[in-house]
Amino acid sequence: MLTNTQMEKFAELAVLVGANMQKNQEVVIRTDVQCKDFAHLIAEKAYKFGAKRVHIQWRDEVLDRLNMLHAGKASLVKTPDIALPSQNKYFIKNKVCLIAISAEDPNKYKGCDPDKIAAAQLARLKVEKKRMEATMSNYLRWTIVSIPTTAWAKQVFPDVDPQVAVDKMWDAIGHIMRLDTPDPTAAWRKHIATLHRRADFLNAHNFEYIHMKNSHGTDLMVGLATDHQWIAAEEEGQDGIPFTANMPTEEIFTAPHNRKINGTVVNALPLVNNGNVIDNFSITFKDGKVVDYTAEVGYDALKGILTSDEGVLSLGEIALIGKHSPIAESGILFYNTLFDENASCHLAFGASYPTTVKNGNNLTAEELSERGMNSSIQHVDFMVGTKDIDIDGIDHDGNVVPLFRDGEWVI
Ligand code: ZN
Ligand code: ZN
Repeated sequence: MLTNTQMEKFAELAVLVGANMQKNQEVVIRTDVQCKDFAHLIAEKAYKFGAKRVHIQWRDEVLDRLNMLHAGKASLVKTPDIALPSQNKYFIKNKVCLIAISAEDPNKYKGCDPDKIAAAQLARLKVEKKRMEATMSNYLRWTIVSIPTTAWAKQVFPDVDPQVAVDKMWDAIGHIMRLDTPDPTAAWRKHIATLHRRADFLNAHNFEYIHMKNSHGTDLMVGLATDHQWIAAEEEGQDGIPFTANMPTEEIFTAPHNRKINGTVVNALPLVNNGNVIDNFSITFKDGKVVDYTAEVGYDALKGILTSDEGVLSLGEIALIGKHSPIAESGILFYNTLFDENASCHLAFGASYPTTVKNGNNLTAEELSERGMNSSIQHVDFMVGTKDIDIDGIDHDGNVVPLFRDGEWVI
């Protein structure tokens, strides 16, 4: 368990390093009702550091599940959440910063109709579209943090009592969040500087392709978007104020070129999406598009993702993470993207972040597309970085620069 002081430091990290809330700014905390105590602590800290107003957007995963089991598909699609669009409009207009607490039960939709899940998810994505655009383009500053819930902890540590599982999760998250250091904020600043040094190396080389290969069957050439830029940890909001979108974060990422991806990639960790577990899957690309896929576990759920729209059939992100990141070293499978994507190199189906191309926020949709940037209502990360993965960068003159050997950075 964390001490009270550590909990307070955690909430402060979310406000100050994560969202980097400015004095007199409005804050929106997005959370499940189970995490209300931590949400309240964040609200308290936000006011301590000068928030103008704090709002909370509640979710309730128990109700989500009951709805999925018992409500008809037509009703799920018609009324995903009638309050969301007007709330989101207000948040965008007032340039709030967003702090999300991610603590989903990975099995919340276990046994529910995949067709209904996909339809409801699509409906929700549609009403969240404007908010998603505002965060993905860094118009709003935002961050995601996580705390354990009983349902989630039970999935991660199935062999122990629920309370022991929750305690073990707190210990793991406390270490990963560097809350066991004397000054977590200073520890984060140092970590962020290391990530930025590597991102600068990648940007200086301006690679045309990234080649990933391992013994599990991955052999994939990922072309990079024209004028792409690698981003790590801290990003800049459109107003020039830095923030850290994911806490924890270990990744350095950029945009693939959505017409220059060829080969096959095999997942390294299960993909948990929308209450479904998808595992032992492989995806084959030709000229940037998925042309074939298989999955031993959760094939229908994978199909649900890959049929959401046209853009989901290409990639919007490539991210590199060494196997010695604290999350990878914990050896814990969290069944939560925030952690698992930081344990392993990953790719994402769907939308790319406009910020991963130079001047991206000032380019038209057409100009982004010319550069190979991908658009979709989805953005779904999946983990591909095994302990034996080798990764090279290939520049425009054909020079090959080793980046990873046996799952770890060599630069
Ligand atoms: Zn990522
Ligand atoms: Zn991603």
